[in-house]
Parts: sequence; C-alpha cells; structure tokens
Amino acid sequence: MLKLLKGLNCYAPKQIGMNDILICGKRIERIRPEIGLKESEYVQVYDCRGMLAFPGMIDQHVHILGGGGERGLPSRIAEIGADDILNAGVTTLVGLLGADSCTRNLESLYAKAKALEAEGLTTYIYSGAYSVPPVTLTGSVVRDLAFIDKVIGVGEVAVSDHRSSHAGLEQMIQLAAETHIGGLVGGKAGVLHLHIGDGKRGLLPVLQMLENSDLPKEEFVPTHLNRNRELFQQAVEYCKAGGRVDLTSGETEGLAVPDAVSRLAAAGAGLSRVTVSSDSNGSIPSGGIGKISTLWDDIIRCITEKQIDPETAFSLVTQNVAELLRLFPRKGTLREGSDADIVITGRDYKLTKLFCSGQLMKEF
Ligand code: ZN
Repeated sequence: MLKLLKGLNCYAPKQIGMNDILICGKRIERIRPEIGLKESEYVQVYDCRGMLAFPGMIDQHVHILGGGGERGLPSRIAEIGADDILNAGVTTLVGLLGADSCTRNLESLYAKAKALEAEGLTTYIYSGAYSVPPVTLTGSVVRDLAFIDKVIGVGEVAVSDHRSSHAGLEQMIQLAAETHIGGLVGGKAGVLHLHIGDGKRGLLPVLQMLENSDLPKEEFVPTHLNRNRELFQQAVEYCKAGGRVDLTSGETEGLAVPDAVSRLAAAGAGLSRVTVSSDSNGSIPSGGIGKISTLWDDIIRCITEKQIDPETAFSLVTQNVAELLRLFPRKGTLREGSDADIVITGRDYKLTKLFCSGQLMKEF
C-alpha cells in the first residue's frame, strides 16, 4: 500500500515549500509539489493541507534501560516505553549506559534496543558507559563497532565528574583511538560520546586529548555543555574552533537550550556542529528524571521564544545529528530515498501525525 501525504509545508529540515510526499514501504519515494495519484486499493491518501512536515527527531542520548541508582539500589530509574518516545516526535535514538554499568549491562541495553525496534523505532546503542576501561559486548570496543550492527560509538564516558573513573590522559586517548579504529573497521561513525560533568576541569580533558593525539575532532561529542555557565563559555569557544557541541534539553540549572542556542548563534559559532539530546530517563543531579518530551519542547521554544527559524532549530535534532552519526541522508532529512520518518504538525507546532519507517505510528 502506497501512502500519499497531500499539501504539506515541508522542512527537510531546510524549507522546501509546499509538497506532496509519497511513501512506498519504508522509504520516501517522491516529494513533489503535486503527485497526481488518487485514493485506491493501492493508495491511501492523507489530506495534510495546512500542516507542516519535519524529519523525525534523532535523540543520541537516551537511557533506555533507565539511569540513576545514585542514591542506592532502590533509586534506579525505570526503562523508557516506546509510547513516550513516539509522543515526543522521536523516531531514531541511541541508547546508552551511564553511571551504573554494574546492575545494568550492554547485553540488556542491546535487548531493549531490539525491543524498541520491534515497536517501529530505529535504534542504536553505544558500547561502554561512564567507566574506563569501558564495558563491552565482545571484549573490545573495536570488535563491538566492527561486529555489532547496533553499536555506532562509545559512551557516555564520563570526564570532569566525581562519578568518572578519573582515567589518565593516555588511557583516554587509547579509548578514543580504539573508538576511531572501530568506526573505520565497522564503517560506523565511531563517535566518542563524552559526558562532561560539573567538575572543575570542564572541557579541558577533551582539549588535552585533541592536543596530544592525531585523532579527528569530529569523533568527539561532548554533551551536557549547557549544564553550567562556565562550561558553556568553554563550549562556545570550542564550537568556534570547530568542535561539536551537544546540549541537553530540559536543563533548568544552567542554560536552557533556547538560551544556549541563541548565544551560540550570536557568538558566531557554527550551528551545524551543534546538536541537542534529551538524557531521557537519566537522573538529574538536582533530583528528578530526564524526560524525552523536553527535546521537542525546547526546539519549539527556540522558534517561538528566540525567533530561531524552524529549519535551523530542527537541524539541531535531525540533520546535524544524522551527519554526526553518519546516518545521513537515510535519516535526518526529508528527501527521495530517505527513510519515511516524518513528523507532521499544525501551524502551532502541535504534533498531529508521526510516521516511522513508513508506518503511521501515532495520530494525536
Ligand atoms: Zn550524562
């Protein structure tokens, strides 16, 4: 059955104007101003006039098994459900382990990623966790990246945090090098996703790794960079110097994402290197649990409160993430041949429909 979505104002995330979108199986078959197919036993037509279409969001930092457990074993946070993810407009995610790689492990992370995939989402995982040396599935991060399809990087490895392993520079560079080699061997992004804590060294461990190795800057994805003002100031300079910056949505202690994005833009940092992720189902240092819905809320607030144009705001959670994870152009864009991961909203940016790999998963 073909699906024809009529009359959408399309953001790919670049604005490409009014189009019809034809879905065949899992993919976008055609995007044209007028596709003249009629409703039939082979074609289902959806009238989407007056609505907007965006690529499904990609969240590169989700504690799908639940994080936390930092106030003893009863404080472990629950797993995420597929419904929470879909309701947030997320169609692709990367699951990861955090501080707790003791009561949780990569085997169950992989199993959970498979379970979410069976519910229609596209899922990946990172090898490793906060700790160094990293936990792995096969005995090495190179082998994990080479042989496990779902593994596309390593993380979240903690630095500048009392919960980190306080590994030495040589050990960190070795881990980054293995991640890089694993990426090359496995044909993956091979990113090192780094949790930066509130510790006094901030981004310094990342700068030192770059200074003392020949590793490419693109491999390093430091996250939570809006968690406090000092760290954010370092992040602005780092971004201007060509580094990637991942912000965490739902931030209330440091800088909220809309503030952080508009400051990065004002400072002349390249927003194409900036991404946003949710840290969903992880524990928040001040208490509480990260929610995946904050990702959508913060992107919309960038548009409505900070006058950031929709294509720039949505790039932070679609194309920029897909490029970083080397999923582009299969993911993170609306174009012919891409996966049909499509978010449809009203003019008020309220979700109305969500397609994952060509399947209508939600009508709101
Ligand atoms: Zn973290």
